[in-house]
Amino acid sequence: MKPQKLVRPLVEGLHAYVPGEQPKIPGLIKLNTNENPYPPSPKVIRAVKAAVDGRLRRYPPPTAQALRERLAKLHRCRPENVIIGNGSDELLSMAVRAFVEPGGRCQGFSPSYSLYPVIVKQHGAVWSSAPLKPDFSLPSPSGLRADAALTFVTTPNAPSGRGYAVKDLDALSRSLRGVVILDEAYVDFASADALALGLRRPNVLISRTFSKGYSLCFQRVGYFVGPRDLIGALDKIRDSYNVNGLGQVAAIATLDDLPYYRRNVRRVIETRRRLTAGLGALGFDVLPSETNFLFARPPRFPAKEWLSRLRARKILVRWFDAPATRDYLRITVGTDPEARAVLKAAKAILK
Ligand code: PMP
Repeated sequence: MKPQKLVRPLVEGLHAYVPGEQPKIPGLIKLNTNENPYPPSPKVIRAVKAAVDGRLRRYPPPTAQALRERLAKLHRCRPENVIIGNGSDELLSMAVRAFVEPGGRCQGFSPSYSLYPVIVKQHGAVWSSAPLKPDFSLPSPSGLRADAALTFVTTPNAPSGRGYAVKDLDALSRSLRGVVILDEAYVDFASADALALGLRRPNVLISRTFSKGYSLCFQRVGYFVGPRDLIGALDKIRDSYNVNGLGQVAAIATLDDLPYYRRNVRRVIETRRRLTAGLGALGFDVLPSETNFLFARPPRFPAKEWLSRLRARKILVRWFDAPATRDYLRITVGTDPEARAVLKAAKAILK
């Protein structure tokens, strides 16, 4: 009997997304995955602990309704304009399945979040990208195709850290006929946000996450805000209990303590300013950042060599091996002591 192929050819040809490492090295300064350096609010820890009891046997609220209502209030919209995901990554994948026919086209700028082409190819859709300008600002004309079914725009962008003006995002979304996702994962560290476009434009969805500004990567909670019909379409393909119960509890408790998180965001922005200046003084070419990371072209040695030299000093940063990014390091902004350690290590490497 001829053996039957067990895995779809499409899946055999896929390359999985490669997340930043999570190594367990004692004393490591981990600045490679843009996590928040500050812990969740004590109220969040208490709420999660208090929820760990016999109720774990029950299913969580299927649509995370209480959380949707809290977010709707925060963003001055209706719960029907909000959908919660198991991290925003889950919602990005769901958007491909909801809005793109297999074989259809998705697009984004390059470089941006490297997950997009992965989830598009998983769906059997086609990915294309338009290059950003050499300084990573938005090109005009955009170079994007008006007829693509789905367009991803990371704003502020990763890995460049650059923010885009809301008026440019508005003009861009009006120039595209398909769905446009403005991925605002890092917006809490930015000077402006485009949320209003998700409530005003029929084809725009705003993607947000509790992972970055709200120190909650571990719990996996993200959400989209946008037009009811697009949110309703996503809701139809949602797994019945896609957001785990402890994640819902943690996210609601987070919204009960927003001043705590705003304080932490301000601290990260202050550290970002100091780290930018310090690296600049050492000869790094640091792009202006609207995020919790810096994108910097290091002096003297190639960026890849800096990656290993910093690692030898127990500092882990990220390097992306693609033509537009390989001269740069992406460095998460940690605490002030971590920033000082980066500057000290960089000085020693340059000696
Ligand atoms: N969008 C961007 C641009 C990101 O960098 C990340 C984090 N890797 C995400 C979305 C996903 O965040 P999460 O799934 O943790 O909500």
